Amino acid sequence: LGGSITRALKQMSNATIIDEKVLNECLNEITRALLQSDVQFKLVRDMQTNIKKIVNLDDLAAGHNKRRIIQQAVFNELCNILDPGKPAFTPKKGKASVVMFVGLQGSGKTTTCTKYAFYHQKKGWKPALVCADTFRAGAFDQLKQNATKAKIPFYGSYMESDPVKIAVEGVERFKKENCDLIIVDTSGRHKQEAALFEEMRQVSEATKPDLVIFVMDSSIGQAAFDQAQAFKQSVAVGAVIITKMDGHAKGGGALSAVAATKSPVIFIGTGEHMDEFEVFDVKPFVSRLLGQGDLSGFMNKIHEVVPMDQQPELLNKLQEGTFTLRIMYEQFQNILKMGPMSEVFSMLPGFSNELLPKGKDQDSQAKIKRYMTMMDSMTNEELDSSNPKLMNESRMMRIARGSGRQVREVMEMMEEYKRLAKIWSKMKGLKIPKKGDMNSM
Ligand code: GDP
Ligand code: MG
Repeated sequence: LGGSITRALKQMSNATIIDEKVLNECLNEITRALLQSDVQFKLVRDMQTNIKKIVNLDDLAAGHNKRRIIQQAVFNELCNILDPGKPAFTPKKGKASVVMFVGLQGSGKTTTCTKYAFYHQKKGWKPALVCADTFRAGAFDQLKQNATKAKIPFYGSYMESDPVKIAVEGVERFKKENCDLIIVDTSGRHKQEAALFEEMRQVSEATKPDLVIFVMDSSIGQAAFDQAQAFKQSVAVGAVIITKMDGHAKGGGALSAVAATKSPVIFIGTGEHMDEFEVFDVKPFVSRLLGQGDLSGFMNKIHEVVPMDQQPELLNKLQEGTFTLRIMYEQFQNILKMGPMSEVFSMLPGFSNELLPKGKDQDSQAKIKRYMTMMDSMTNEELDSSNPKLMNESRMMRIARGSGRQVREVMEMMEEYKRLAKIWSKMKGLKIPKKGDMNSM
């Protein structure tokens, strides 16, 4: 009897005291990481309260990996915060939509307008840019330069000082010219000022945008909530774009922006160039926020789904940071062999969005098989090279012929490869957590 009482007591302490301690410790760690990532203090506090309600201490006691359960709960909770419940308005190809960009000066509006236009142009749209920024000297020149580089029609004026007038004229002109995505770039101020918000209200009233996008610099820290809210109060913000995600800011302000505007993040800016622009994907973003980085979260997953005997080799390659076509081939083999790989790759921004779109498993598989057929026609030199320049036109033609595919398809695959190689290169020197070690958070 004595033994069983001792056992019961021990179990009880395991179930409540110890696990509550683990829970608190774990939550404190996570809280620190989130605050460092600029997540608004109030959001962090609310989340902490929620998690305590959600996480069942009995489950923790049942001997499961406690940290894992808690982390999963936090992860899900953050994903929920980033999902405002209704998707952003999506323009339709061939039907004129007006999209207005707002944000403080320097947030990246003008750059992002061009990226947004360029992104859609590549997908067969007819975008156009209107410069309604008459406040900043050189604003029109900047937009003109960007637009010219991307071969996108633009409208603006050096003389006219009324932003509303320019916006209306530009929108009208491009509607007549049958553009289907008319993008209105607006002015900003260094600070949130009444004059700016009044101007935004007027431009919006005059151009009746189908979508207003709030552009926010990822490095503004705790100011994000107020800033987003201030814009939301003057114009009907319907989506958010976070810029400068290539910097060291983890972008926790995105949660504030979503909470304040009740609108989803649709894209992120990852550099100054036109093509450094990605569809926003919640999961990798949240991993990064939690300080796992896209990649160490990915590493933890690898331990779960990649067969043990393949792990050391793959991990070594990841650490070296060289991504050859052969590695891509092997990863494709993995994806095809075992379903869960697509889950692993959903942790990586590149793999998830473009290569393995959700709900399109069959298409993705067909694409991967097509790529592998083409790679089967490559030489060892080509497969093992990490220099994409090696793949010149004559090589691509030979590969197309050898695999019975179009040169266009080989080129498309090489684009995919380059994109993945870029992501892969970030893994160089990455510390790889040992199996079961979840302290990396
Ligand atoms: P605006 O005042 O809101 O129109 O901002 P701009 O588009 O003029 O951008 C301000 C600065 O931020 C410029 O130097 C841009 O090149 C830079 N920028 C914009 N987006 C990004 C980004 O995603 N990454 C980086 N590194 N720089 C960016
Ligand atoms: Mg600008």
